[in-house]
Amino acid sequence: MDGKNNLLNAIRVGMGYDSHRIETGGSMILGGVVIEQGRHFVGHSDADVLLHAITDAVLSGAGLPDIGQIFPNDRPENRGRDSAEMLRLAMANVRQAGWDLVNLDCVVLLESPKLSPIKSELVRRIADILEVGPTLVGLKGKTGEGVGEVGRGELAVVHAVALLHRT
Ligand code: MG
Repeated sequence: MDGKNNLLNAIRVGMGYDSHRIETGGSMILGGVVIEQGRHFVGHSDADVLLHAITDAVLSGAGLPDIGQIFPNDRPENRGRDSAEMLRLAMANVRQAGWDLVNLDCVVLLESPKLSPIKSELVRRIADILEVGPTLVGLKGKTGEGVGEVGRGELAVVHAVALLHRT
């Protein structure tokens, strides 16, 4: 029983979710990668919907305040801010709090572009930011099948889940 309790106290799961509106012009920043699409995600920071969901997943698993509390969107220093830098800071806080990543899994709901041609580049970039091996990062792309805000290309949605272990 003690062994089981020790194990249960040594792992934590955290869930992250984010969505950003899509508008014409500019380029999309997704998973820290610039995608020249003639469209962009709208937001206060660089609006990287994927890194925001991942940031909340790892922070939540470690029991830390969420991305909106750490990087408030009414602060001028967070305007246009690089989400890769925010995730790096968040992961440093997670490690400081005595946790590290077991694995991460993400689902990106985006009508276009299709993720498959750029998936390995996104995984490598996310793994670099988190300073983990790429096998710890799972990523799946889904479209909205032409239906709803996602299907009409108006919205990008990301769900992310992170499993952490106590260090
Ligand atoms: Mg966001």
